[in-house]
Amino acid sequence: MINSTKIKKLPVFSKRRKAGQNICTIDGLEIVREGSGVSPGIVIGRVFVYDTVLKSVPQYKISEEDIPLEQQRFLNAVQETLSQFDTILDKAKNAFEDDPLSSLFDVYRHMLKGSRLIRGVCNRIKNNLINAEAAVQTEIAAIADVFEAMDDVYISGRIEDIRSVGIKILRNLQSEAKEKSIRLPENAVIISNDLSAADTALLNFKKITGFVTTGGSGQSHAALLARSLGMPAIVGIPDLLRIAHTGDIIIIDGTYGKVILCPTQEHVDLYRKYRSDFLRWKRSLKRLRQQESVTSDQVFIRLKGNIDLPHEIDFLLKTGVDGIGLMRSEYMFLNRKDLPQEEEQFEILRNIVSRMDGKPVTFRTIDAGGDKCPDTLHTPKTDNPALGLRGIRLALKNVSVLKTQFKAVLRAKCFGDIRILLPMVTSVDEVIAAKTLLAECVNELREKSIPVPEQLPQLGIMVETPAAVLEIDTLAKNCDFLSIGTNDLIQYTLAVDRTDVSVSSLFNPLHPSILKLLKKTVDGAKNANIPVNLCGDMASNHRYTAILIGLGIRELSMPAINIPMVKEKIRSLNLVQAQNFVNRLLSLSMPSDIIKTFNAFEEGVRFD
Ligand code: PEP
Ligand code: MG
Repeated sequence: MINSTKIKKLPVFSKRRKAGQNICTIDGLEIVREGSGVSPGIVIGRVFVYDTVLKSVPQYKISEEDIPLEQQRFLNAVQETLSQFDTILDKAKNAFEDDPLSSLFDVYRHMLKGSRLIRGVCNRIKNNLINAEAAVQTEIAAIADVFEAMDDVYISGRIEDIRSVGIKILRNLQSEAKEKSIRLPENAVIISNDLSAADTALLNFKKITGFVTTGGSGQSHAALLARSLGMPAIVGIPDLLRIAHTGDIIIIDGTYGKVILCPTQEHVDLYRKYRSDFLRWKRSLKRLRQQESVTSDQVFIRLKGNIDLPHEIDFLLKTGVDGIGLMRSEYMFLNRKDLPQEEEQFEILRNIVSRMDGKPVTFRTIDAGGDKCPDTLHTPKTDNPALGLRGIRLALKNVSVLKTQFKAVLRAKCFGDIRILLPMVTSVDEVIAAKTLLAECVNELREKSIPVPEQLPQLGIMVETPAAVLEIDTLAKNCDFLSIGTNDLIQYTLAVDRTDVSVSSLFNPLHPSILKLLKKTVDGAKNANIPVNLCGDMASNHRYTAILIGLGIRELSMPAINIPMVKEKIRSLNLVQAQNFVNRLLSLSMPSDIIKTFNAFEEGVRFD
């Protein structure tokens, strides 16, 4: 891997720049920040601020011909806001006899009818050539400045009114923008708080070159997605939304977790060189496509790909994988007002299965919940969604959603090897209930004379809860294969939220309890004589490969970008040495001893 140089701390650009102004140039003042690199590589691009909780809003320049369109977007949002006020007022009138809200809402409504706010925003869009959101923000700030200068308690109280009205307009603008999808500059580096699966699905990946989030962790969806798309990404730079502005030049080094905002020309040149070194190294891994995935003592390890979005298959096919070990289906449900129907899902699956040319595709039924919650499923908002109605629990409560997925898979099975994977299983009852529904689907399709193959798809379960591991013997007897989800298994075992940056150092795949749970799962699969795959993030980190194959796992599934590195590692390993290493790790109970032994193995020490 390339080396990043030490960059001395340069002066921090402390004064907050206003929207649409002072777009940073190469010779401007540079800001350097460090976070956690969660997806390797280097990008020199343009910031696109995408604040998902409305602390700030997307700000970008527009062209002259877009002025009327942008002004109309703003006026539509104003209309929408007015009608929301009317609805609230109607409700208040029904609830209260003497209508306490009407005078407040009169003030709000007045602000939205031909006031300075409306004229000011329209003028700013036109004169400064900025998008409606940026214009609303700057106009509100300007009005607040004027009010603040007045020494009058009544008037200063109105500042908050103006801000609330502004926020309501921004929300309406943003929900409209969300429905449409987001306009990005070329080479966009997305700067965000933490991108949920729903947020990422709105982005046009052709224009994105990297991600940086203020929160999140190596397990959050932005990180998983960046890795699966092979884009550099960094998490955990808390003040970045405050200091970065859409249009700024930015360098991100995802290998070392470094962000340089408004870099000097010297750093741009340096990082261009690092980038070409990195790309040369990545290209050199391509030769591995033709090489077999075998250890030095000729043990074959099957490598499969993970995909979230159907178009990722293009990238995956270039790596020469043995199949798709995990196709997450949540993304088919996000950012839409209706549910994906059987025909639509069938077409997607038929296409993927056909393109895999006989290689297996493991389709995971919807694992909604946590940060990937489609509106259409109407899941209740709870304080602890990771422990809520998610995964197979949710699917069994929305039987028609699950049956639609099963039917699409059953039909796609006529075109290749597609398998079903159930997420978040905690008990065998769930597996049996799902199998009953699958049998119903077979009958219903056959009744309609829709072709269903004689040989039904294999059905497996995700092993990603401690309960599943403890019940592994019973579960393994009731399914055709197991797939270990270490992202959730670690989260639930160690009680560490996988998306919470403040506990990310506790997210420890080498914790003795995790090693024991992996061993128990592999033994359970062996006893039941069924295959076990590992599709969590541990599979994609080549530093863990020796442990996984030493434990007896012979199938790993990961984002395409990681396949060459893991294959290279497999080819350097000897199975007997890996088994001895794992036996040593399993004999240790102190996490610190495990880390020492792990590091020693990485440095070439071998154990008998
Ligand atoms: C896992 O939990 O390891 C897994 C692969 O599933 P997801 O990341 O989608 O929860
Ligand atoms: Mg999971």
